[in-house]
Amino acid sequence: MPLDEYRRKRSFAATPEPDGRGRARPDRRFVVQKHDASRLHYDFRLEMDGVLVSWAVPRGPSMNPADKRLAVRTEDHPIEYADFDGVIPEGHYGAGTVIVWDRGTYDLAEDVPIAQQLARGKVVVVLKGKKLRGGFALIRAKLGGASSRENWLLIKHRDEYAEKGTR
Ligand code: MN
Repeated sequence: MPLDEYRRKRSFAATPEPDGRGRARPDRRFVVQKHDASRLHYDFRLEMDGVLVSWAVPRGPSMNPADKRLAVRTEDHPIEYADFDGVIPEGHYGAGTVIVWDRGTYDLAEDVPIAQQLARGKVVVVLKGKKLRGGFALIRAKLGGASSRENWLLIKHRDEYAEKGTR
């Protein structure tokens, strides 16, 4: 079931996070949440087929196309999580403060269904947020060793919104 892993890790009697049994919204949304957990990271989430497909980006998204930001795929989250700002209690999964860092809607940059893009390991979107705008690609990196985690790279496209300059 889509949200089994998400629910298994959490005790909804103790954490203020949504349990994923609420209603979904019609718009296709994205959200980036700054999560000050044991390690600070930014959770990048795209609405897809009724859930938020999620990646943890340790250094956060960049508007500079020269930056390739590691994005580790995490479990799908419920749609209502896009509205979650709050403190996950000490001793619980992801303990720490979550703030919405950016949000908005997105379009697909290619005429390929998003689930298919995810399966092929290349997701290309056009974000319409406050901080993040324009084209971004998520590219799945080659599997390394026995680790079960999926490493992807989040890369800004060169477009009118891109930060200029190289590094
Ligand atoms: Mn997180």
